[in-house]
Amino acid sequence: MTLTLAVLNFLPGEGNPATMALQHHDEVVLLLGAPGAGKGTQARFLAETLGVPHVASGDLLREHRQRGTSLGRAAQEYMDRGDLVPDVLVVDMIVDRLNERDAARGALLDGFPRTVAQAQALDDRLRRRGGHVRCAIYVDVPTDVLVERLAGRWLCKTCQASYHEIFNPPASDGVCDRCDGELYQRPDDKRAVVSNRVAVYLRDTLPVVERYARQGVLQRVDGNQSIEAVKAALLQAISEDEPVPA
Ligand code: AMP
Repeated sequence: MTLTLAVLNFLPGEGNPATMALQHHDEVVLLLGAPGAGKGTQARFLAETLGVPHVASGDLLREHRQRGTSLGRAAQEYMDRGDLVPDVLVVDMIVDRLNERDAARGALLDGFPRTVAQAQALDDRLRRRGGHVRCAIYVDVPTDVLVERLAGRWLCKTCQASYHEIFNPPASDGVCDRCDGELYQRPDDKRAVVSNRVAVYLRDTLPVVERYARQGVLQRVDGNQSIEAVKAALLQAISEDEPVPA
């Protein structure tokens, strides 16, 4: 399918182009990329375009920590070091989320799977229910750029919008443009932790990217360009990929 002007001009909330919305049972789109690749910035509009919930493993884990659940307490030490939370905990959390009603047609998964074992568990779960990975979008950014991006990142406490003190600053310091919420820096965005997160990504998650490339479902997007250009490239990636008949 070619990218039309209508697709480029599409704004979230204006109605989804039918060819992009996930139509089938348990069909997932994966948003893969290193920490700092800009996945969070793009995920919300992409999920709206696909007409499915945005399921971010990092957001779910932070919610568990805030609520003080046993999962949140178990995840804490790993997250603070920038290490991955053990597969068994994360897989159960994602499967529970995918079992919720709003994800019956599927979901945009952001930050999951991050290991080959997680990818295998996801494939098994989808296969059992007649679903599949429709496409895996890899937002590719050079490693040295990632650390600079994360170390300057600020997030909104209320709506999770993401800013960067140099590349994408808010109109007024410390205040979210979208909802007036207070901005904060994630503790694991400190420079030392960021370097570990990127190293962990290269070791554990690049093999996942290669796995989806071998399966023929990988779409590579250059993440080292403006937010608008990345957005257009993402739309092109999901519009080029053909929906699989039910
Ligand atoms: P993120 O917000 O995606 O950068 O995730 C923040 C932290 O949550 C990571 O550094 C990991 O400690 C943990 N985390 C998020 N997603 C996963 C996952 N799929 N597997 C293991 N740990 C994860």
